[in-house]
Amino acid sequence: MSAPAPSPAEIKPPRCAMCRGRMVLTRREPQTNGTEKLTFNCPKCEYVKVKQTEDPLHPTSRQARRRR
Ligand SMILES: [Zn+2]
Repeated sequence: MSAPAPSPAEIKPPRCAMCRGRMVLTRREPQTNGTEKLTFNCPKCEYVKVKQTEDPLHPTSRQARRRR
């Protein structure tokens, strides 16, 4: 057991830019190019944030390419 299984389904909701609260993932839309469009919603102030995933099929490579 030297290779721990990654969890590609795990998505960490970002903090709300308005009230710093924990946002909730409300929608996932798979795109034709293999990425996913994620819609987050803040339950406190109803702030909405849309995020485009880079490479959902290769979560490890996405992690390695992380720059900021
Ligand atoms: Zn908020």
